Parts: sequence; structure tokens; C-alpha cells
Amino acid sequence: MLTDSTKWATICEDYDKIRVDAFAFGYGDVWEELMDSTRSGSAKISDWAKFLSDVNNAAEGSQNIISKGDPFQRRSAALHAMSGGFVCATGRCDRSASPLTATMPPQCPLFDRPMAQD
Ligand SMILES: [Zn+2]
Repeated sequence: MLTDSTKWATICEDYDKIRVDAFAFGYGDVWEELMDSTRSGSAKISDWAKFLSDVNNAAEGSQNIISKGDPFQRRSAALHAMSGGFVCATGRCDRSASPLTATMPPQCPLFDRPMAQD
């Protein structure tokens, strides 16, 4: 079982791809609402689970992509390969990342703020 903070990290890590998929498959409005509620702190991880399943289903319907199963489980595999020294400043997601440059911390796209030194 994945913890909630791992699930948040998978969303954070895959932010760009999820956003592109959401708009490509007609869920752009839902995405925007979910981002607002995530940044204001009211979104739950279960809201994201439903959203990711809906987008996966829409993608399957149009492209025959096989994407069964837990939407977070599929995405989490890539997380474990990463390390970095910076963590999400909210403490909600356990993604870690390396600085973009020596003087610029990595950004958390999900919560829209710079990441903090671990
Ligand atoms: Zn994050």
C-alpha cells in the first residue's frame, strides 16, 4: 500500500503529464478545480484518485491504452529512482528533487512553491 504522502509525490512528479492528459481528454476544467482546492488545502487524495481514474478511462477509450489498476501504483515506480536533497515545502508529499541550478531550488508544481532543503 502506498502512503498518502507517496501518492501526493506521484502527482507532484507527474504534474506536467497529468495536466496534458487532463486537457487532452476533456478534463481540463476538473483539473483546474482540483488544483485550486489542492493549493487551498481542501482537496483529498481520494479526489485525485477519482480524477486520475477518470482521465485514464478516457485515455483508454480513445487510444486503447491499457492502464488498469491503481493510478498511483503505476506512477510510483519512477519515484524510487530519484533522490535529491530537496523536499516538498508543504510536508504533504514526499517527493524529493535536485536543485535546478546551484542557486535555484526545485519547484513543487503541485503546491506552487519552491521546495525546501531536506
Ligand atoms: Zn510537491
